[in-house]
Amino acid sequence: MDIREEFLKFFESKNHQRVASAPLVPEDATLLFNNAGMVPFKSIFTGEVPTPSNPRATSCQTCLRAGGKHNDLENVGHTARHHTFFEMLGNFSFGDYFKEEVIDYSWEFITEVLELPVEKLWVTVHESDDEAEKLWQKHVPLERIMRLGDEDNFWSMGDTGPCGPCSEIFYDQGKEHFNGPEDKMGGEGDRFLEIWNLVFMQYEVKEKGGERIPLAKPSIDTGMGLERVVAIKEGALSNYGSSLFMPIIRKVEELIGKEYEYESGASYRVIADHIRTAVFLLSQGINFSNEGRGYVLRRILRRAVRHGYLLGFRKPFMYKLVDTLVSIMGKEYAYLSEKSDAVKEQIELEEARFFKTIESGIALFEDELENTKDVFSGEVAFKLYDTFGFPLDLTEDMLKSHNLKLDADKFDSLMNEQRTRAKAAWKGSGDADTHGDFKVLLENFGENTFVGYEFTSHSGEV
Ligand code: ATP
Ligand code: MG
Ligand code: MG
Ligand code: MG
Repeated sequence: MDIREEFLKFFESKNHQRVASAPLVPEDATLLFNNAGMVPFKSIFTGEVPTPSNPRATSCQTCLRAGGKHNDLENVGHTARHHTFFEMLGNFSFGDYFKEEVIDYSWEFITEVLELPVEKLWVTVHESDDEAEKLWQKHVPLERIMRLGDEDNFWSMGDTGPCGPCSEIFYDQGKEHFNGPEDKMGGEGDRFLEIWNLVFMQYEVKEKGGERIPLAKPSIDTGMGLERVVAIKEGALSNYGSSLFMPIIRKVEELIGKEYEYESGASYRVIADHIRTAVFLLSQGINFSNEGRGYVLRRILRRAVRHGYLLGFRKPFMYKLVDTLVSIMGKEYAYLSEKSDAVKEQIELEEARFFKTIESGIALFEDELENTKDVFSGEVAFKLYDTFGFPLDLTEDMLKSHNLKLDADKFDSLMNEQRTRAKAAWKGSGDADTHGDFKVLLENFGENTFVGYEFTSHSGEV
C-alpha cells in the first residue's frame, strides 16, 4: 500500500487541495527547519495571507527536528519511533471545518483505508476538552479515551506562531512486546505509539512568552508520521524495521560485514537516520558549514561517522549509502536522483575530513575518561572541538554512554574567548580580505552584505 498516496487521495476525495511539500528551510525566519506540516501554511492560519479559494489542503511535508523547540536528535537510535528527518502527512482547514469533521475524517482514514484494528486504537484529548471527548465517543469507548495536560495535548510550532489544544491517536503495539515503566500513554516508551495529532488551532502567540490570542477563525492542522504508519502496516515494531530504513541498514551490514540486530544496533539506526537528513539537506542546497543550518548538517554527519567508527569503519562509507536511499525515495523526490552525484562527493569529502582526526580525537577522549570521576573536562571538550572537529553535542553523545556530565561552563568560556580573539585579530590586521576572515564574515553576515566592500573578486574562492 502506498500510504503517502492513499492519504493524499483520501483527503482530495474530501475536497482538499493537494499541496507539494515545501523545502526543509522555511520562509519563516523564526524556525531553523520546517518541523511540521502546518509550517508552510502558518501565515494563512494567522490571517496575514488571505485564505485560498479552497479552504482545505492536504500535504506530505518533509520535516526536520534537529534543533529548536522540537529536537529529536538525542532520541535517534534510542527510541523506535524518532527520526531527525521524517515525512508528515497532514490535512488542514483554514477556518472551514473544525473538531467534529476532523475526528470523523481521521477515524475513517485509519479504520477504513489503513484498516487498523479498532481495538488497538486509543485517543487522547486535552484535559479541559469535554467536546472532543464527547465527539470521540461516537467511535471509541470511553475506556480508551484519555485526558492529558498541556505537555502532551497542547501543540505549538515554536515559541511563537499558531497553537492550540489537540487530540492524538495512538496505536497499542502490545504489552507482549513493550512493557516498561514508560510504556504508558504520553510516556517515553514505545508500546502506545503516537501516530496522529489533530490540532484544534485556536490561538496565536506573537512574541516569546506572550499571551495566547484567539485566531479569527478556528482552524484545523493535523500531522501523522509516515514512517510510523508504514512500520505498523508492515508489522515492524520499530520504524527502522520498515522498508523505508531496512535497505539502508542492510547496505551498512554489507559494507562492514557485520549483522544488525535491534538490541545492539543503535549505531546502524543512527546512520540510517542521518544519511536521510544529510542527503535531503544537501540536495536542497544546504552545505556543510560551521554556522547555522550548515552546522546542524555537519554535526549530524559527524555523529553518523562516529557511529560508523564504532562499527569498525575507518574510511568514508556514508556516501555509499546515497544510492540506496535514492532507490527508496527517489520516485517521490526526483531532486534526490538529480543531485546524487554531487551529494555523494560532498559527503565523501566531509567524511574524509573527519576521518583524519577522529582517531586521535577518540584517543584523547579515552585518555581523559581515565582521569574523570563525574564531570568531563571542558578544556578537553574544547580541544576536541577546536583541534579534532568534534562538535560539542558529539562529545556529549559519547559521554552519555558513560553516564558522565560535561563541564559546559568551561567549554562555553573557552569558546567565547576564542570568538573574542578571532574578532580582535580581524580588527587589528588591517587586511580584512584574507581568505579565512572573509569566510567567517560571510558566514556571519551573508554574501550580499559584502558586495559594497569590493570583496566580490574573492567570492569565487570562498
Ligand atoms: P512524540 O511524542 O512521539 O515525540 P510528538 O508529539 O512530538 O511525537 P507531534 O509534534 O505531535 O509529535 O507531530 C505529529 C506526528 O508526527 C506525530 O504524531 C508522529 O506521528 C510524527 N512525528 C513526530 N516527531 C517525529 C519524529 N521525530 N520522527 C518521526 N515521526 C515523528
Ligand atoms: Mg516529540
Ligand atoms: Mg507526543
Ligand atoms: Mg504529538
